Amino acid sequence: MFRNINLKVISNTVVIYMLFAFVWWAMLLHIKNNDAFVAKKELLQRVMLENGVISQQDEMYSRPEFHALQSKYDHQEQMIYGEGLVFILSLFFGIYMINQGHKSKVESEKQTRNFLLSITHELKSPLTSIRLALETIQKRELDRENRTKLCVNGIDESDRLINLVNDLLLAARVESSYQPLLEKIDIQEKITSAVQNYRQKFPDATITWEPIGFPIYIMADNTGMRSVIDNLIDNALKYSFKDQNINIGILVREDKVSIKIADHGIGISDENKRKIFDKFYRIGNEDTRTTKGTGLGLYIVNEIIRIHHGKIAVTDNSPQGTVFEITLPLSIS
Ligand code: ADP
Repeated sequence: MFRNINLKVISNTVVIYMLFAFVWWAMLLHIKNNDAFVAKKELLQRVMLENGVISQQDEMYSRPEFHALQSKYDHQEQMIYGEGLVFILSLFFGIYMINQGHKSKVESEKQTRNFLLSITHELKSPLTSIRLALETIQKRELDRENRTKLCVNGIDESDRLINLVNDLLLAARVESSYQPLLEKIDIQEKITSAVQNYRQKFPDATITWEPIGFPIYIMADNTGMRSVIDNLIDNALKYSFKDQNINIGILVREDKVSIKIADHGIGISDENKRKIFDKFYRIGNEDTRTTKGTGLGLYIVNEIIRIHHGKIAVTDNSPQGTVFEITLPLSIS
């Protein structure tokens, strides 16, 4: 922080100095040019009078020699002001670019810090739960019901870890080596299976999903598409808090299918709508946040949709909440 402020003070001082120095040099050049013009004008006048080209001083102003001198002077003045303008514009453009670069560096450092904080927590918390469950089973004489409860809890936590590791691997792959294994899949089947899974995991949540009566085929990578659907449903539930009421809809339009996942949760501001697809980006501050996550989900979703030649859009739900809409090309075969 201190280093950033120092850097700003130094760069602003340099810029102000450059501007003053430039104005000073421009004025000096203007004065010198003026002096040179006056001196040359007087010399021309004297030579013309001596050689009898003109009889009176004022006659010089209508002579072509004077016009040539005047236009040279005007040209030099234009050069001084033109160059000056280019210099000032370049200076401001340079400052703008430096500031943008600086801003995005600070933003990316903040996101990396947030990611490290959240990933540490995301790794530590399931491991602690699993260890606690195993220790309890080891040390205490438990009846069958309690032992099963602890085992189920341990399995859930290890699933959470597996999902996290899968997300990390997928994020690394979409950046470099992700080759979608395209096959013809019925997207409704994938949504139905994901919805069943989430209804089991969150029995109190209301997930409305009505598949239309015929299969909708797309060419897609099975695992990638499942990750897209899971991430969007997961977020819709996670950022809904109390009112876990989400609607999933599907629509076929010409050669495309569009899937909408709408929640009535906390919503996303317009400014954040542009940022949430950035890697590691999470709204708010990691020190105060209570929701679990790494900021990788929507980055993965966006990349996978892009690789499948699809689109993703985020809008506000009414009266509150968020709608994510993905559009994908239908399979033509
Ligand atoms: P995370 O692991 O934090 O959920 P994501 O990449 O999936 O990461 O989402 C990035 C951020 O976008 C989240 O931290 C959250 O602030 C915001 N977000 C995502 N989905 C929703 C939603 N349905 N409602 C409100 N905010 C959301």
